[in-house]
Amino acid sequence: MTNINNQEFLSIRLKHIYLKISQACSRVNRNISDIKILPVTKKRSVEEISHLKNLHFNSFGENHIQEIIQKSKICKNNWIMIGHIQTNKVKQIVKYCSEIQSLDSIKLAKELNKHLLIYGKYINATVQVKTSKEISKYGIDPKDTLNFINEVYHNFPNIKIIGLMTIAENTNNKSVIRSCFKQLRELKDLANKNIPNLNLNKLSMGMSNDFEIAIEEGSTEIRLGSLIFN
Ligand SMILES: *Cc1c(COP(=O)(O)O)cnc(C)c1O
Repeated sequence: MTNINNQEFLSIRLKHIYLKISQACSRVNRNISDIKILPVTKKRSVEEISHLKNLHFNSFGENHIQEIIQKSKICKNNWIMIGHIQTNKVKQIVKYCSEIQSLDSIKLAKELNKHLLIYGKYINATVQVKTSKEISKYGIDPKDTLNFINEVYHNFPNIKIIGLMTIAENTNNKSVIRSCFKQLRELKDLANKNIPNLNLNKLSMGMSNDFEIAIEEGSTEIRLGSLIFN
């Protein structure tokens, strides 16, 4: 059982995080306002989420649609799906989520677009790219990413691709982590150059253990769980 944090604790945590963000920004001459924190609230209570809402957050990342459905009964937010999606869950994703960051197959894109059409909806999505060598992680292979984006962009118009997302390799080797983030940024630039009017802006990269490196490599959104709550 995880303990429930009060608002004061969360506010102190966030101040500390903003300081780290601003230090990382100044190392590479970036503007702090170009980086957004997406609080990842998996396994955290609606009470903690409401504290974060008081601290002016209104989008939250979750891994499981079931958890989003339960929490959204109590708490109205933008729920962002960041975990792998089974295609039989797509209907609920369309109903409850305002964005998905884990778009990782054509099968999923097809199913999503089908349900979006039924409900007359659009959804923002980032393509999850597998920049690490670990076998277990989901995501599009970097060498297939441009084709994948092209296919989704042209065939599934109700999915609005706004950027790319990755989880860096789980290692202490900072240069390996850095190369994952660098690769994602280069893929974004490549896609924007090759696909007219695509205009990807978002790079969702960096978690509690590696967000500073991600910022140095161009992240526009860091997904933070344990650093905020634990
Ligand atoms: C859990 C999770 C996070 C947050 O991880 P922390 O290390 O706790 O910050 C970020 N992204 C994804 C996809 C996650 O599943």
